Amino acid sequence: MHVNIRNVFFIIFLLCFLTACEEVDLANKSKQAPSVESGATQKNEEVKKMILPDTPLQKGDQGEDVKAVQHILKSIGYTVKESGIFDEETVWAMTDIQLQQSDSLEVTGLYNHEVKAILENCLEEKVDIQPGNGFDENNIEFNPYEILVLVNKKHMLPEDFVPEDLVVPDVPFPFTEDLPKKMMRKPAAAALEKLFAAAQKADLNLFAQSGYRSYERQKELYTAYVERDGEDAANKYSAQPGQSEHQTGLAMDVTSPDVNFLLNEAFGETDEGKWIKEHCHEFGFIIRYPKGKQSITEYQFEPWHLRYVGEKAAKEIMEKGITLEEYLEDLSY
Ligand SMILES: [Zn+2]
Repeated sequence: MHVNIRNVFFIIFLLCFLTACEEVDLANKSKQAPSVESGATQKNEEVKKMILPDTPLQKGDQGEDVKAVQHILKSIGYTVKESGIFDEETVWAMTDIQLQQSDSLEVTGLYNHEVKAILENCLEEKVDIQPGNGFDENNIEFNPYEILVLVNKKHMLPEDFVPEDLVVPDVPFPFTEDLPKKMMRKPAAAALEKLFAAAQKADLNLFAQSGYRSYERQKELYTAYVERDGEDAANKYSAQPGQSEHQTGLAMDVTSPDVNFLLNEAFGETDEGKWIKEHCHEFGFIIRYPKGKQSITEYQFEPWHLRYVGEKAAKEIMEKGITLEEYLEDLSY
């Protein structure tokens, strides 16, 4: 067989060339592998950096901080708009995360340090958050867990809403029975304890009279009031089932021995009542049904009915002398 020596050399050369190419390729691959990984880490770092501002945020807030939170929410699967406006969807996402981590987080619908830490852990895959696992998406428009929830004669709570995080605050009650009305939702209960501690320091004699009330209990009460006073009269002082803030677990009626532990207008004139009006906002509470605002709240003046809305909203509401209805209207975006 005739072998062309030039062809043999050519084949050897070709084989060498191909092997060399493969080696170069392998070398490139091994160089690329870590760079892909560091790219991902870098991306996570960038994502994390975006939420580094520590400012607490709530419904209606606007700006770059809100946008950064929304960006992170989107990156972990939430279908929120990156609008820079803390809207209902963002409040819902906060609530959903908080309910999934309710052992360590207060359920408020607010963005704060605790949520920030959870989001960071989620990005590092140390915590598993699944959008919708804590709180169904049907609750985006009306979210009874957010501390700014509006409940009144036009905005009713569903019959089956029972807050998951009810606890008994460590404050004095004028009765000893273990009744459900001692309870409040966790964030409100913690704030109430602080308010009572401050009142005690000021030598005041404050008592908690009535907190959480179920839909069923409100139904019983309302029916009894209607039987006693008639429907028109009952509607002026009592909520119909679903319309009571007490069902949210965010309200507490307070009183003092000076008015025999009653809930009446005279409480507003006691030292305790005056102190409450002056200081409740420092602990995130408002007097929900103020004097002269009946046309808006549709309830008569109730100096004893405290509603938890968080410190930021409470400060503005009490300082401006407005109602929750007016405050929320001003947030319109
Ligand atoms: Zn009340």
